Amino acid sequence: MSLNSSSQRRPLMAANWKMYKTIPQAEAFLKEFLPAVANVNDVDVVLCPAMVALAPVSQLLSGTQVALGAQNMNENEEGAFTGEISGAMLTSVGCKYVIIGHSERRQFFGETDASVNKKILAALKHNLVPIVCVGETLAERDANQTLQVVGRQVRAGLANIPSAETKKLVIAYEPVWAIGTGRTATPAQAQEVHLAIRDILKDQYGSLTSLAIRILYGGSVKPENIAELMACEDIDGGLIGGASLKPDSFGSIVKFRSASTPSASR
Ligand code: PEP
Repeated sequence: MSLNSSSQRRPLMAANWKMYKTIPQAEAFLKEFLPAVANVNDVDVVLCPAMVALAPVSQLLSGTQVALGAQNMNENEEGAFTGEISGAMLTSVGCKYVIIGHSERRQFFGETDASVNKKILAALKHNLVPIVCVGETLAERDANQTLQVVGRQVRAGLANIPSAETKKLVIAYEPVWAIGTGRTATPAQAQEVHLAIRDILKDQYGSLTSLAIRILYGGSVKPENIAELMACEDIDGGLIGGASLKPDSFGSIVKFRSASTPSASR
């Protein structure tokens, strides 16, 4: 294992199932997946099923090293918010993580940097680890605005986070043009943005904290490309959509260290 700063951070692989998998389908996944990853104890693994499957998945994960996450939450404590779910509800069902500000939520459900910020603060208040998604569109990348856009999303999204909570944060860099498209950022493209994010975190929270915060890459991660992405200094894991729906492919991603490519030596 190399002794670069990435070795201070425990890898994290999070599955974002989006609006896929009924309860029986989620149960069938776990029947295959849990035995396949039972011996993995050097990677944090998180499953984020649809809201309706949180309770049964939570039961099946009990006693395993795999954690439960939600795909979204409301920033309010409780109230007349039809169709929404609160932080207290998520913790009561066993969630440890919550994805915040996924690009699909920004694109289709009107989430903004300001609403993302409120949700992150609410998540932390409920002791949930927020997986905060940022990333540029193709038009923004083509216009050379990637670092500016991602920088704005990170600074605004993470405004006013209590300093005791900053080390818990997880950021997911997900270029919008790479999500569900089969088009992955190259390791160099991803590393450039991850480093820029870490520099912002260093600016805001200091060197020690910036080195503790995990920054995941998301966007068409597959068993075939995870090892080369994980070999990058500032990539600490993945947020995985399509390839997390099959137990064998998500299992291979979780076990990225067993891949035979030389770049898997992290
Ligand atoms: C995602 O949903 O966050 C994602 C990265 O999807 P995919 O892996 O399918 O690109």
